[in-house]
Amino acid sequence: MSEPPSKRARWVDFHCHLDLYSDHAELIAECDRERVATLAVTTTPKAWERNRELATDAVLVRVALGLHPQLVAERAAEIGLFESLLPDARYVGEVGLDASPRFYRSFDAQEHVFERILRMCAEQGNKILTVHSVRAVSKVLQHLERALPTDRGHVVLHWFTGSASEARRAVDRGYYFSVNSEMLKSPKHRALVEQLPADRLLTETDGPFVLSEGVPVRPLAVAETVVELATVRGVSPHDMEAQILANLLTLVSQ
Ligand code: MN
Repeated sequence: MSEPPSKRARWVDFHCHLDLYSDHAELIAECDRERVATLAVTTTPKAWERNRELATDAVLVRVALGLHPQLVAERAAEIGLFESLLPDARYVGEVGLDASPRFYRSFDAQEHVFERILRMCAEQGNKILTVHSVRAVSKVLQHLERALPTDRGHVVLHWFTGSASEARRAVDRGYYFSVNSEMLKSPKHRALVEQLPADRLLTETDGPFVLSEGVPVRPLAVAETVVELATVRGVSPHDMEAQILANLLTLVSQ
């Protein structure tokens, strides 16, 4: 996806933790075989090198450089490593903020790290970020608005669960939304997804954190999410599939 993905791509999984599955290498091969353009997000910059190595020959898998907000409490010091790797990364994630009770204690540190990451991205330009915003949508938007000018980077809000007005705020800034199967189980979030502009939608799995019948979903599961999304939005699955692929191509070729 650093160059537009080849015409081979059919599906899009814009947020999957490939390195947290026991069969990481096999999963990369599966993405190519099943034609899923997949963004392999990482939770610590220490995972970058190994992820890149394994994905070297992959046609449809790209690796994102991340420092997950839920790990900032223990790993804030890895921001230096993050900084040294960033020039090599077109994709950044998973980054963001998490204000849920388990992680709230580190919220100040998370904000500090997120702000630094955004400023570095703004300085280098043209990165594509996949951003976590659990219970912190408004804060995330505030940081993005302050530290990442819209002409200095592209933002995909992953598993977005904000309000309608927060969604509008994000849309006005040109942000994309990657939607997973878990989001579509909630009537409230279905209603939100129904209102998003068609040209800002992407699909994701957030595997292995999302399960289907007790088993972590794999990237090809986005095929079912496309069908669900089509139902929510009242379009044909075929049109939904084409729209999402077109959205990916637009995003990565900016
Ligand atoms: Mn994730």
